[in-house]
Amino acid sequence: MSAGNGHARARRRVFVVGLDAATWDLVLPWAESGVLPTVGRLLREGVHAPLRSTLPALTPPGWTSAATGRNPGKHNVFNFYRGRAGGLAPAPVTPADLRSPRVWDIAAQHGLRSVVLRMPLTYPPDPSVGVMIGGIMTPKGVDDFVAPGALKATLEARIPGYRMEVDASSLKAGDLDAFRDDAFDLQRVQTEEALHCLRHEDWDLFWVMSHTLDKLQHFFWRYMDPEHPAYPGPGPYQHVIRDFHAAFDRALARMLEALPAGTPVVMLSDHGSAPLHTYLHVMNWLSDAGFLALRREGAARRGLAAVGVDAKSLVCGLRRAGLGWVPKLVPRSLRRQVPQSSMSFARVATRIDWSRTRAYCPSAPGSGLWINLRGREPEGLVAPGAEFERVREALRRRLLDYRDPRTGESVVVAVHRREDIYRGPFAEGGPDLLVETARTVCMVEGLGAQALMPAGRSPEERTGNHARDGILLLWGDDVRRGERLPRAAIEDVAPTVLYLLGLATDADMDGRVLTEALVPERLAARPPLVNEQPYALKESSFRYSEDDERKIQEMLEGLGYV
Ligand SMILES: [Zn+2]
Repeated sequence: MSAGNGHARARRRVFVVGLDAATWDLVLPWAESGVLPTVGRLLREGVHAPLRSTLPALTPPGWTSAATGRNPGKHNVFNFYRGRAGGLAPAPVTPADLRSPRVWDIAAQHGLRSVVLRMPLTYPPDPSVGVMIGGIMTPKGVDDFVAPGALKATLEARIPGYRMEVDASSLKAGDLDAFRDDAFDLQRVQTEEALHCLRHEDWDLFWVMSHTLDKLQHFFWRYMDPEHPAYPGPGPYQHVIRDFHAAFDRALARMLEALPAGTPVVMLSDHGSAPLHTYLHVMNWLSDAGFLALRREGAARRGLAAVGVDAKSLVCGLRRAGLGWVPKLVPRSLRRQVPQSSMSFARVATRIDWSRTRAYCPSAPGSGLWINLRGREPEGLVAPGAEFERVREALRRRLLDYRDPRTGESVVVAVHRREDIYRGPFAEGGPDLLVETARTVCMVEGLGAQALMPAGRSPEERTGNHARDGILLLWGDDVRRGERLPRAAIEDVAPTVLYLLGLATDADMDGRVLTEALVPERLAARPPLVNEQPYALKESSFRYSEDDERKIQEMLEGLGYV
């Protein structure tokens, strides 16, 4: 069926394009200087705003909030992982963890058809929404990431080198040339994939996302940034990030050409990005500050018998999670050669003396801190109630007072309590404290040589960081022209997309229709509608197999996320 059929004028279609980790800090100057002519035209003819992401500003919660209009306390995706036993045995989040419908689920309930390409948490792909192709958090190496299944054969036949993801093994080997070439080639594949769907599928909502920029910015930032401490001078990688933006801009031009006339465009990122100068190994800091106690390394290396039965049950729990990252008790001489980003919580868990530990950081980058709470953690120490509040407040204040001894500058700019950030029935799934570091500092959960370590000592170390503010750009007949708006919230995206589709929003959504972006006369003629009865969420009983969890873990590990 052709997208250009006779219904084109009567239907309210919406085209949403995501560029993961895009920041106005880079996009605006490049749009103004002509490097990104297509984005430049949309900026002149539409409205744009900074888009405030979730905390932590990570890909799975960010995109999930954009697509549900809700905060993680309602949709239940806080991180790459879901908490288990207080976060001690993390497992990757899956669509079964979602507790809120996404816009394409809502569109399907109204009989509308969506094409959803490369969004997180879309494996297994759901053919009932229309077309769905899996994105990040799809197990590495699976074949069935396209729905309907027959579409995959068509895409494979038409697009040379058709595949799911970038090959992170080149990164592990420190081969940045191969990683860059693979990333640009995957962008070619994904552009052809989107163009095929635009031309040959029938759709009301088209939502396509590219995650590749996020990966490139993590690993290539220092090569373009003369102010980065690990900037090596001009060289072959200096324009990788700019050139990827330009490739995306050319792809966007082709996609816009393929849209039915009058289709509004929503362009966004899930969070922004910034230089990463310094790693904060928060477990080291917690230990230095007296909130966490470590056993001597020798005791851990002698084996589980030496560290007690409880540590053993913890390791068994990790093993049951099937993540393939059960602590490897490697000798210290070898460990020095391991990149610091791979020193994950699971690898230091057996060294923690829980009987003297009041707070810890259990999982992936950007995550928060947990109190070792009695009745929640397996060896909880801190009593619920007044003692919990006292420890949490002491920890919060110590973090806010923390200065980089080299510069005297604050390492941490804000520390939030869980209940100040998350609202909703699943808010308890978030950490007790959420830490916002200074712009060039990234908090990681593993143990390093010391609390603060410079970034960029090896090719596989990240030198680009996430920033909380991403981008939002709206363009179309209903949208005002050439205006910059104050900051919008990422939860505003779903209600605004629903409005443009002609559908009501949910009263339970945290976001709102961005009416200030719309032409007043058109808004007056068609005011936003609110659904008092929340849209239903189709239950998913899907569970990843242990093998699939291990494959997701490998993917995340390959990208330096654990
Ligand atoms: Zn992202």
